[in-house]
Amino acid sequence: MSDYPAHVEIEPRVHLVRGTNDARFPEANTLLIDDEILTLVDAGSNPEQVFSTLRDLGHQPEDLDRIVLTHFHADHKGYAAQLRQISDCEVLCHPLAREGVESFQTMMNFIGIDNSESKGHWTNLLISRLPHVQNDYIVDGTFRDDNPIDCGEVQLIPLHSPGHTHDHTCFGINGLEKILLVDIDLTEFGPWYGNTVSDIGEFKKSIEQIIDLHPKIGISSHLLNPVTEKLEAHLESYLTLFQNRDEQILNHIAEGVNTVKELAKIPIIYPRIPHPAYLVFEEIMIDKHIDLLSKNDLVLLEDGQLQVLRT
Ligand SMILES: [Zn+2]
Repeated sequence: MSDYPAHVEIEPRVHLVRGTNDARFPEANTLLIDDEILTLVDAGSNPEQVFSTLRDLGHQPEDLDRIVLTHFHADHKGYAAQLRQISDCEVLCHPLAREGVESFQTMMNFIGIDNSESKGHWTNLLISRLPHVQNDYIVDGTFRDDNPIDCGEVQLIPLHSPGHTHDHTCFGINGLEKILLVDIDLTEFGPWYGNTVSDIGEFKKSIEQIIDLHPKIGISSHLLNPVTEKLEAHLESYLTLFQNRDEQILNHIAEGVNTVKELAKIPIIYPRIPHPAYLVFEEIMIDKHIDLLSKNDLVLLEDGQLQVLRT
C-alpha cells in the first residue's frame, strides 16, 4: 500500500501505524497498542496498513478489542465503523466528540457546513476522498480527561487539547514523555482551525500546555515519524504561525483587500485551494483571525468592509 514500512515501534507494545499518502489528509496515522486489550487509537489510516501491522504482530483484524478516537474528524474516525463490524470492538471517544462521531449531520454542523453550496462542496470532497465516511457511527462509551485508559501494561492518558476542534484530545503514552499530539501535527502547513468548533485562543493554549509538560517525543497524526529531536522548539515555532498569519492578513488588508471573501480567495492559510470545500475552511479560519484582530482593535470590520486600525 505504501513504499515505506506500514508501522514503526514507538516503545514495546506501542506501534505507529502510518497512513498511506505520507499520512497526509485524507489519511492519518493510527496507534496500535498491542496489549491485553488490543487497542487502536484513531482509525483513519488505510485498513491495509492496520491489517498488515496486526498480522506482523501475530493478530487478526477480528482480534481488535477497542478503538479510541481523538476527535470527530473524518480522517481520524475514518474506518472505525468498518473495523467495528469486522471485530465487534468497542468505540470510545471524548464526551464532546460523541455526537459528531455518531451523526453525519452533527459532523457537518460541527464543521460549519451550513448552506447548500458548502454542503455540495463538502459532499463532493467526501465522495472523492473519504467515501467510507458517509454513515452514522456507533459509539459505545466515552473516556474522561482525568481517567487513564488501561490497555494492560500500557496506559493512555487523555489530554483534552481543544482548539483544532472542541473535542480534540492528545494522549500521553505511559506517562507524559511521549505524547500523541494528533492534529497539533507539526506539519509545515501549520495549525488548522477551519471548523465552527475550532478556536484559535484555545489552540494556542493547548500547545502551550503541551510545551509545559516538556515531552521528549511527539507523535503527529500527519507525519510519518515521531518528532524525537528538539520537540519543544518544533512546538514553539508551530505556535508562532498564528501570529505570522495575523501579520499576513493585516498586510493584505492594508493593501486594500477588504473583505473576508477576498482574503480567502488569495488564499492566505492554504498554499492553494485544491478543492472548493477548502475555500470554506479558509474563510472560516480567516474569519477567526479577523474576530481576534477586531477584539484587539487592530482592524475595524464595518458593513463587511475591513480596515487596519494599527499594526
Ligand atoms: Zn482533525
